[in-house]
Amino acid sequence: TQTGNSTFTLTPQDNGIALLKIDVPNETMNVLKAEFAEQIQDILQQVKSDSSITGLVIYSGKSNSFVAGADISMLDKCETAEQAIEIAAGGQMIFNQLEQLPIPVVAAINGPCLGGGLELAMACHMRVCSDSNKTVLGLPEVQLGLLPGSGGTQRLPKLVGLQKSLDMMLTGKQLRAKQALKADLVSDVVPNSVLLDVAIKMAQNGKRKANRKVNFVEKALESNPWGRKIVFDQATKTVLAKTKGNYPAPLKIIDCIRTGYEKGITKGLAIEANNFGDLTQTPESKQLRNLFFATTEMKKEQGVAGVAPVKVNKVGVLGGGLMGGGIAYVSANNAKTPVRIKDINHTGISHALKYSFDILNKKVKRRFMSSSTMQKQLNMVTGTVDYSGFKDADLIIEAVYEDLALKQSMVADIEENCKDGIIFASNTSSLPINQIAAKAAKPENVIGLHYFSPVDKMPLAEIIAHEKTSDETISTTVAYAKRQGKTPIVVKDKAGFYVNRILAPYVNEAANILLAGEPIEKIDRALVKFGFPVGPIKLLDEVGIDIGAKISPILVAELGERFKAPDAFDKLIDDNRKGRKTKKGFYNYVGKKANGKDVDESVYSLLGIQPTSKLTAEEIHQRCVLLMVNEAVRCLDEGIIRNARDGDIGTIFGIGFPPFIGGPFRYLDSLGATTVVEKLTTYKEKYGDHFEPCAALVKMAETSQTCY
Ligand code: NAD
Repeated sequence: TQTGNSTFTLTPQDNGIALLKIDVPNETMNVLKAEFAEQIQDILQQVKSDSSITGLVIYSGKSNSFVAGADISMLDKCETAEQAIEIAAGGQMIFNQLEQLPIPVVAAINGPCLGGGLELAMACHMRVCSDSNKTVLGLPEVQLGLLPGSGGTQRLPKLVGLQKSLDMMLTGKQLRAKQALKADLVSDVVPNSVLLDVAIKMAQNGKRKANRKVNFVEKALESNPWGRKIVFDQATKTVLAKTKGNYPAPLKIIDCIRTGYEKGITKGLAIEANNFGDLTQTPESKQLRNLFFATTEMKKEQGVAGVAPVKVNKVGVLGGGLMGGGIAYVSANNAKTPVRIKDINHTGISHALKYSFDILNKKVKRRFMSSSTMQKQLNMVTGTVDYSGFKDADLIIEAVYEDLALKQSMVADIEENCKDGIIFASNTSSLPINQIAAKAAKPENVIGLHYFSPVDKMPLAEIIAHEKTSDETISTTVAYAKRQGKTPIVVKDKAGFYVNRILAPYVNEAANILLAGEPIEKIDRALVKFGFPVGPIKLLDEVGIDIGAKISPILVAELGERFKAPDAFDKLIDDNRKGRKTKKGFYNYVGKKANGKDVDESVYSLLGIQPTSKLTAEEIHQRCVLLMVNEAVRCLDEGIIRNARDGDIGTIFGIGFPPFIGGPFRYLDSLGATTVVEKLTTYKEKYGDHFEPCAALVKMAETSQTCY
């Protein structure tokens, strides 16, 4: 007879093994909630008191997940660390009770088994998982500025060893089934069709797998306190180098693991709960959780509320260059749509095909993909130098040279050669979409779809609607960008759109600071310390100094003098110093120091500067970042972005704005508009009118308004 409640059902079987099914109602995936604690406890009590039950198998009633994590929204209700400590301690207690059951307990895992889900599985005595490619195991809490608070920091090292567990918990990386087997996190990988049967057998046999085979080096390092000290010290060093001290969670994780090794599991669990509680209250974790909620919310939204997208079954890509190659890859590989690429010559096509080949080949080499799957993927992308194979495409993504007349002729070609009503999405980075659509018979089908390079890695897509773009075109493009794995934000058709527009003043100010004599490393280090992945001068090298110089006049013409790039840029371009692509920029790409990390000192004499450091790192980052904030507020005020949330997501995903600060609008809220206006005004007096706080920001300060 079945017992339980809507989430947990216990079904004892004749063979003595009871099945415990987890199926959280009204949720697409299983997530653990605080109120389950009591329910699980009841079930465990029942299992204990029924002597006919000789083994327990825990499995999921959902086909898409074992348990994908814990519901983190409950943490927002915690006003103090103590309340969060209580939640962690509650989870620990339940999982301890599960572990202490006198009968064998097996977790049968299919689909994501993450965070609290893996902590649950690790409290079981054995784990088996399905070979589905949806099956992943991991403790991603660190990505939310948290740590696994229900015993994860104590149990994972015991199962997979110290070094592997550090790697998993400090990065949040997820293991696929085979990797989990290799790491000894599960003892078997089987097809999903027999998963439950195998788990039942394991529970019947009751035999736990022999302990992991530990190699000599691992043993030498992990089995004694001196060896472990080396491992912990190294991990701490790596963390600090990577996070610049901006993220508190990794160090707390190391603290928990160390305590467990040195003082035993009881102390380890106590520290784990305490550290977890403390982390929930840090601004870093709060911002990372906000970001998580924002992206989850965006996944559910349509481009235009109430307007359904049209299904895209095939896409055509125009131009097989750097961007076209990447767009073809994400379309075939992520969106699973056949792609037809048109270029003017075969070099362009083979270039695009090579883009996909290189990425997939790496996956095959790392054994993440079989050669036959790779072949199937590659077959989805084909090329042509005319419009053959374009008739049945539903969406065209254009990535030819940045030239208005050329792009207009592409629109005409597509209207002539493709089916009626086809959407034309341009990847232009600077041309107005309304001008690309100016000669179109159906301008309502023309839209901007702006990716960031490298397309397979950068998560943002800007979707640019001009005045005549139809709602259906917007919704369809948004839906398709999501299928490509992108997080799209819908923006207005004005110079620079959103991301490049707020990036320009930031980069220009870094250049101004350089021209005033501040050393390049000092500037880049200041912004990296602030939390950007690379500094602004390095970014110029990566993007191309000429690209920056090309966009600037467009921004000046439409938006004003504050976008004027320093004249000195011309000297760099005349010197063919365009950055990494010409192997000549602010950093060294040739000669002895060709690592792209050391500054090419000759740039100083070219610019007529003798670098000496006069400014504090704080002033450097403030000048750059506050100009970005000011411009972001203008964009919101002008309706370039739909809301502050989109503006924050766009900045984090498009430029790498520090996620733990939450984006320019979250940053503004945390500083307060009044403070930001004051700082901008001070800088205006010192450095010029481009620091003028915009009217919307001044109004925010006057009325004590916030963005959220
Ligand atoms: P690219 O020079 O690498 O590629 C352009 C390709 O278009 C070439 O293969 C060329 O042969 C092909 N082409 C030219 N005329 C054509 C025609 N009539 N029909 C078909 N193909 C034709 O350029 P890219 O860097 O890939 O940029 C493409 C577009 O994407 C530009 O509009 C650019 O502004 C935009 N963009 C670039 C980046 C970036 O970082 N490179 C980022 C965002 C947007």
